[in-house]
Amino acid sequence: MQLAELKWPEVEALPKQTPIVFPIAALEQHGRHLPVFTDSLLTTEIVRRLSERFRSDALFAPLLWLGNSDHHLDFPGTLSVPPRTYIDLLGGLAENAIAHGFRRIFFLNGHGGNEVPGRQALFEVRQRHRDRRDLLLLFGTYWNLVDKMRLSQLGLTQTSLNHACEYETSMVLHLNSKLVAETCSIAPVHYGNPFEPAHRAFTTKDISAPGHVGIPSEATVAKGAALFEAFTDGAADIIRRMIAWNGTDWSG
Ligand SMILES: [Zn+2]
Repeated sequence: MQLAELKWPEVEALPKQTPIVFPIAALEQHGRHLPVFTDSLLTTEIVRRLSERFRSDALFAPLLWLGNSDHHLDFPGTLSVPPRTYIDLLGGLAENAIAHGFRRIFFLNGHGGNEVPGRQALFEVRQRHRDRRDLLLLFGTYWNLVDKMRLSQLGLTQTSLNHACEYETSMVLHLNSKLVAETCSIAPVHYGNPFEPAHRAFTTKDISAPGHVGIPSEATVAKGAALFEAFTDGAADIIRRMIAWNGTDWSG
């Protein structure tokens, strides 16, 4: 069910063990061939599919489209909330849910730049409520929740999701091919970090002049359909496990 459609007495009457899902994404450049709203479009579609599956068993807040995209700000059109503000924003949302009695909270993320601040936000919430045993605070990025074996069987060229890449381009093609510019002539951009396994801080323009990372020319509508199914199943599995949680134990 959608939080945006409920009246407050209906929210008050909900069983408070109902998982509340906060979908979070971004508005940022996605190369020359995809719209800036790509992450929000893709996350919205996954949430639409999830809400059809779970009906009244899970509560979905409206998508928070503004994310931490500071690394893309060299590209026109990108909108970003500064990371420290974003940590407080997400932490505030989780605190709202807790104040209304909810105990099982899931930030379902569709943008890589939200991962560090999103996890930090939930870390801080957990420390503020450190004496409680009944809180389940989860953060998950949809492409990391997928069954890796299943992903390897979809005929994809890339072995993982990058940015405005084979995966994201395929999914936007599946949603609405009119939103995608011609991809056949787009040259691949490969992510390389010669300092691995150390993490190297970056701006996107360090890696890619056109803005994409990966191989968009390999995208197809059929790959997009298969990816949406696999990613929705992965996120659904987390929500099912949230519902099945016994309400107190770390081990579930
Ligand atoms: Zn993206």
